[in-house]
Amino acid sequence: MLLLDGKLASQAIKSELKQQIINLKNDRKPHLAAILVGNDGASETYVASKVKSCEEIGFQSTLIRLPHSASEVELLQKIDNCNHNPEIDGILVQLPLPKHINEQKIIEAIDPSKDVDGFHPVSVGRLVQGLSTFIPATPYGIMLMLEHFNIETKGKHAVVIGRSNIVGRPMSILLSSNVSKGNCTVTICHSATKNLKEICLQADIIVAALGRPLFVTADMVKEGAVVIDVGITRIEDASAKKGYRIKGDVDFENVSAKASAITPVPGGVGLMTIAGLLKNTMQAYLNRTQQG
Ligand code: NAP
Repeated sequence: MLLLDGKLASQAIKSELKQQIINLKNDRKPHLAAILVGNDGASETYVASKVKSCEEIGFQSTLIRLPHSASEVELLQKIDNCNHNPEIDGILVQLPLPKHINEQKIIEAIDPSKDVDGFHPVSVGRLVQGLSTFIPATPYGIMLMLEHFNIETKGKHAVVIGRSNIVGRPMSILLSSNVSKGNCTVTICHSATKNLKEICLQADIIVAALGRPLFVTADMVKEGAVVIDVGITRIEDASAKKGYRIKGDVDFENVSAKASAITPVPGGVGLMTIAGLLKNTMQAYLNRTQQG
């Protein structure tokens, strides 16, 4: 069984980016603006690691914080400032947002040329049509991981569980695209899917992105399948240092005995998501400085 180690793969990508930065002839470095509304624990952690990763590789980053009570108008104003700031290449608004803010309106307010999370309808439309675009960071990170470990995908049957706009849907598009590490026959499953176990048993590749801890069990997985676990759920555990443990959507202990390759949680897709975001930010910078 091959462990699809996100630390290894993301470090390789970060090293490449770091070298690209060293070779830049421009004093101005790629600049990511991350906007965080409120102080949700998980969101704080994600944003902090994105900002830290920028620093590690020589990108500039700005963290813009707004209180949970901030209005939609205030957030739109911050986005507008970033859109018009020539020093900023990429903008990300950490999701989820407080309930009183319309997420779709916020996503659509970001200038598509700075949409490094790849959630804007323009980015998604371009992805569907196979045009160059910012690919949503998590599916992009998974594709980079498949590339890094040279996982064969052509002609394989991939089953994606989950159809969200940020993970499942774009993942299914990428895996079915005529690209390197694509060319799969894809089945996309969701909460209304019947016979999910039977469908999963036909899969050469399973991408679990539903947010149900340990949902994918060994009896759902074919011998030799490649299993990608996107799920991140915090489970309270008084014996853990932080008071909780992170669980994926896959029963790693038992599934790993059958899989030919599998991602761990933590230490898998989460780290690749950051790698995807950094690659998008570099691309946004290159597009804007016309060096790409
Ligand atoms: P989401 O928006 O809640 O979507 C979950 C999807 O799973 C929905 O399409 C839902 O179906 C489907 N689903 C739920 N229960 C199901 C069931 N019993 N059988 C089949 N399908 C079912 O979640 P998300 O934003 O895509 O995130 C999914 C998980 O990935 C979460 O744990 C999240 O924390 C994690 N995540 C991780 C990363 C990372 O970097 N590793 C990044 C993003 C998200 P319906 O559409 O029918 O409701």
